[in-house]
Amino acid sequence: MEELQRALGERGLSVSSLPEKGRCLIATKDFSPGEVIISQEPYVSVPSNTSRSSKCEVCFGSDNVKKCSACHVVWYCGSACQKADWKLHRVECQALSNIEKDKLKYLTPSIRLMVKLYLRRKLQTEKVECPVIPTTVTDNYSLVEALVSHMSKIDEKQLVLYAQMANLVNLILQWPDLNLKEVAENFSKLACNAHSICDSELRPLGTGLYPVISIINHSCLPNSVLIFEGRTAVVRAVERIPKGTEVQISYIETAGSTMTRQKALKAQYLFSCSCPRCMKLGQGEDIQESAILEGYRCGDDKCMGFLLRDPDKKAFICQQCGLARKLEDIKDIASEVKTVSDKAAKSLASGNNQEASSLYKTVERLQLKLCHPFSLNLMHTRESLMKIFMDLSNWKEALFYCRLTIPVYERAYPGCHPMRGLQYYTCGKLEWLLGETENSVRSFMKALDILRVTHGTNTPFMKELLFKLEEACAEASYKLKPADEDD
Ligand SMILES: [Zn+2]
Ligand SMILES: [Zn+2]
Ligand SMILES: [Zn+2]
Ligand SMILES: [Zn+2]
Repeated sequence: MEELQRALGERGLSVSSLPEKGRCLIATKDFSPGEVIISQEPYVSVPSNTSRSSKCEVCFGSDNVKKCSACHVVWYCGSACQKADWKLHRVECQALSNIEKDKLKYLTPSIRLMVKLYLRRKLQTEKVECPVIPTTVTDNYSLVEALVSHMSKIDEKQLVLYAQMANLVNLILQWPDLNLKEVAENFSKLACNAHSICDSELRPLGTGLYPVISIINHSCLPNSVLIFEGRTAVVRAVERIPKGTEVQISYIETAGSTMTRQKALKAQYLFSCSCPRCMKLGQGEDIQESAILEGYRCGDDKCMGFLLRDPDKKAFICQQCGLARKLEDIKDIASEVKTVSDKAAKSLASGNNQEASSLYKTVERLQLKLCHPFSLNLMHTRESLMKIFMDLSNWKEALFYCRLTIPVYERAYPGCHPMRGLQYYTCGKLEWLLGETENSVRSFMKALDILRVTHGTNTPFMKELLFKLEEACAEASYKLKPADEDD
């Protein structure tokens, strides 16, 4: 711990302990927006492979990946990644051969992560003088030991599940001295500490355990953001963080009513958030916000008021014009939305994009009658339509739906939020494809303003954005030239 404090101190950070929150990371110097606060390689990580797509165990890339010929479980993109993983995979490969072929389906990412966790610990501690995998201040098992497990808050059913999972790990490792109770507790640790590893566009690629990053607590109004560069976790400040302030990231999707966010945090991370946004629960402002994000629209098309339930009248009443919407009417449309949405999701999963697009359009039409114009559900439907039309290379329709989501993004993701930056980026790419050069310059600039803070400027992803902006600017000035000369 002293060593870790020293290493963090050099970076302008320190670990403190607060009575209600446990450990937290405190800035001991000022951080400016976009500045990297801390970065870490995973202690262990696994890609989330499906039968349709396999990823390299090390870089999570999916190009030219080949299966390990011995275990048939792990994939590599080439010899460089295979070599980088060899010290650990050599023993993992042997262990994986302990499971019979028909049991391979039980080898979930969590089980694999746990097996790797124990193997890595062994390789780091077995030969004290000269361990197979050397340890560093930020790469050692004692950091994993220090993580919270919240064992006392877990229900009986979950405990049974963890015990079964521990048995499977035992079956794979076959270590006579394996402590099954500790394995079960470690599953609980993984559940509330492991991070989902995403690409630059926030699409999930796998799971990893980053014990130093795990010290950072959650806020629904975070001052920092966690983005992955390959497997490396990078935390950057999204606003000025003055010396003495706690560094906080968001563990969950921050768009959502306080109730929804609290529920998500309780279910997965087993704590109640007491951030400034959550402290407003039940206050007028918070009730209004929930009614807009997740509630219904006024019966009068032109009214933007929000509705609250009046149990006596069995109706929802518009808080602006007083108009009532019958509970029955709302229920009817809501159940129709549910039926069509399920159908739409099914046709999307089966790859029938044409059918899915017309079903989602029906959902959108129904939701326009049901939900507030700034509703997140309506936004998600339009988001799905945008993606489907992008898959169909129908840029015009895709841009139409992308633009409809922007005002909701502006509300739901204020400040330097990567989601809003990424949506502007998509908007700019679609405008560029459709020859709307000047609009694309504007959208790329808006994307850059946000993403340079959240993503830095050095990754291939950001270099591509900068290149696209330059290209669009060049074409925009070329297009403007003849007009200038005419004057
Ligand atoms: Zn690779
Ligand atoms: Zn293997
Ligand atoms: Zn909160
Ligand atoms: Zn109204």
